[in-house]
Amino acid sequence: MELLCPAGNMASLKAAINAGADAIYLGIKDNTNARSFAGLNFTPDTLKQAAAIVKRAGKKMYLTINTFPQTGQEQRWYDAINAAADYQADALIMADISLLDYASQRHPQLPLHLSVQASVTNAAALNFFQQEFGIRRAVLPRVLSLKQIRDLAKDTSVELEVFAFGSLCIMAEGRCQLSSYVTGESPNRGGSCSPAKHVRWHEANGERLTRLNEVLVDKTGVEENIGYPVICKGRYLADGAEQPEFILESPTSLSTLELLPELARSGVGSLKIEGRQRSPAYVSQVTKVWRQAIDTYLHAPEQYQSRAIWQQVLTKVSEGQATTAGAYQRSWQ
Ligand code: SF4
Repeated sequence: MELLCPAGNMASLKAAINAGADAIYLGIKDNTNARSFAGLNFTPDTLKQAAAIVKRAGKKMYLTINTFPQTGQEQRWYDAINAAADYQADALIMADISLLDYASQRHPQLPLHLSVQASVTNAAALNFFQQEFGIRRAVLPRVLSLKQIRDLAKDTSVELEVFAFGSLCIMAEGRCQLSSYVTGESPNRGGSCSPAKHVRWHEANGERLTRLNEVLVDKTGVEENIGYPVICKGRYLADGAEQPEFILESPTSLSTLELLPELARSGVGSLKIEGRQRSPAYVSQVTKVWRQAIDTYLHAPEQYQSRAIWQQVLTKVSEGQATTAGAYQRSWQ
């Protein structure tokens, strides 16, 4: 199984390679990818350097061009696709049908991976993208159970990639009305949900009030360890409830260390670590743990067990210092 790691900048790219990633995904410094934060991503020059570093290390580089162009602005996305061809990316990660069409016509030699943002969850849809655009791989949305992934793998020859570790999003992968309602910005083209410029903290009388614009997302003690505030992971007072609760989603990270053998047996070919917005130290720590886990599994698949020390390292860097297996272990369909 491939270990695919995030690189928001050159330091993270080197950290991922040194820690044992098989492949790196990254984006260009504009809104052609869904993580267009200030200070993140690659210029044409740094992309060229990144491609050379990745090739020298014998790894793979996938360029993320996974946002949806607005009418009249398509050229920026075409330029990004052409740059990927120039720098010999090992694959493009894309969701928009018109871009898949452009890339498959213009650069038929460039492998295409269907982004999680396409939210494709059934074999017929995967096979359609394969027939029309020749996609080699699809990144599955984080809403599928292990059984659904197994069933999918039986009915398609498209290679499957899943999220193994990182933040969870309960919406249709980046198309969030919650965040755009409160901030007025698209989580897709704006770089993230809950952009930092809308976040406000106010501390008084031992309490910390966290707001996104004017919406109170959480109230905690000032010493309490809290994750980055996003609307779906806020605590709200539901009608009739006595205490504010996490009524939509808890702040927690997806972690599938325990499920590694089942993911492998399900036919998953690539494990993705989420987090291009995270620090090089984070990328290094998480990549090292997953390298060890995959190597341990490959060495003796039948004896594989997740180790407590791996989980400790991952829990420390997880949202809310808690992890979940998310939908993979959901019993209902
Ligand atoms: S607010 Fe929650 S559901 Fe919406 S994009 Fe952010 S993480 Fe996803």
